[in-house]
Amino acid sequence: MRIGKPDIYQEGNQIKYRVLVESSSGNETLWYSLHEACADLLSNKSDAPLIALLMPAMASGEDIYISGVVSERLIYNLSGPIQNVLQRIIPSLQRVNIYPEEVCPDQRNRPPGVATGFSGGIDSFCILADHHHSDITDQFRITHLLFNNVGSHGSGGERLFKERYKRLVPAANLLGLPFLMINSNVDSFYSKQLGYKQTHTLRNVSVALLLQEGIGRYMYASAYGYSEIFIGPTYSLGYSDAITLPLLSTDTLDAFSVGSEYSRVEKTLRVVEAPESHRMLDICVNVNNASGFTNCSTCWKCLRTLATLEIGGHLEHYSSCFDLDAYKGKRIDYFTTLLGSHDPLLKEIVQYAKDRNYPFPVYSRVKHTFRIEPITRSSKRVWRKLKHLAHK
Ligand SMILES: [Zn+2]
Repeated sequence: MRIGKPDIYQEGNQIKYRVLVESSSGNETLWYSLHEACADLLSNKSDAPLIALLMPAMASGEDIYISGVVSERLIYNLSGPIQNVLQRIIPSLQRVNIYPEEVCPDQRNRPPGVATGFSGGIDSFCILADHHHSDITDQFRITHLLFNNVGSHGSGGERLFKERYKRLVPAANLLGLPFLMINSNVDSFYSKQLGYKQTHTLRNVSVALLLQEGIGRYMYASAYGYSEIFIGPTYSLGYSDAITLPLLSTDTLDAFSVGSEYSRVEKTLRVVEAPESHRMLDICVNVNNASGFTNCSTCWKCLRTLATLEIGGHLEHYSSCFDLDAYKGKRIDYFTTLLGSHDPLLKEIVQYAKDRNYPFPVYSRVKHTFRIEPITRSSKRVWRKLKHLAHK
């Protein structure tokens, strides 16, 4: 694989960064674009395409010849440690050699920008509760929110990327932070065998490296707690973020994982401390949400979050972004599910309820205890009546 010298130019109000990529699959251009107002953040180094294309090159077993300037620390980590880690996670990947045209030790100070991705979900607002609302040193206070198109929008692609960004702009405005929209065709370099979940960290870090002229710290939301971190074959690269991110850093971009100290319940409760989340929390996974609210309030993710908020006594704070009537119609059945579940994330909610002496609805407890299921029409009628009384 040959990666050409970066070409940076203006197209309308966008600044574009592109490199020509020659590989066994043919010639293709890898590009990124962002608004001209952010031009001063853009690095002219070749670090971003190198990180973006490392896994595709390892998948096809092609050595990388890269033009332009690459950071010394990145080359050091990419040539050995990071490939070892990636191979342990995806054993089919092959070791490759990297031949940079020019390696540059970073002499300048780390830039002051502190960035994190923003999706409006629990992980995003948890980072903001800790690094925007808290009394924290400026070195770790968020200055920029990023929204990337590097594969997370699935088949919705660029259309969904733009729609989601537009939906999150009011939340970023409330937070008073610049919200950068970074478009890219990175995803087109990844085959179906290299799905987003197995590769997301490198795709997103490539964007942070693209902005390392002004961004000196990049916080990546953890999906897992410290006790769950491991290196080994898995479907999710997220399990190794705490280890891989420092290996993807340069002397001027410090990339690291944040939030592993919290359980899912603790994160949800931490989010309540970010007041913008009360109106703007956006977690729903229901693609057919027609509730008229940001969140359908009845999908598995909405129910899990709302149950935690209810037990914690915070439900009413979220009445503008959740359909609480729809939730109330489902909550008794959901609490029954919780009581019988072996899922660690749901068991944690039950434990939290016990710790708070939260009284589960009588109907949920009865149904759970006796494993009662309606069988006949008449028993269904009795059941509905019982449920109605329980609601009252
Ligand atoms: Zn939902």
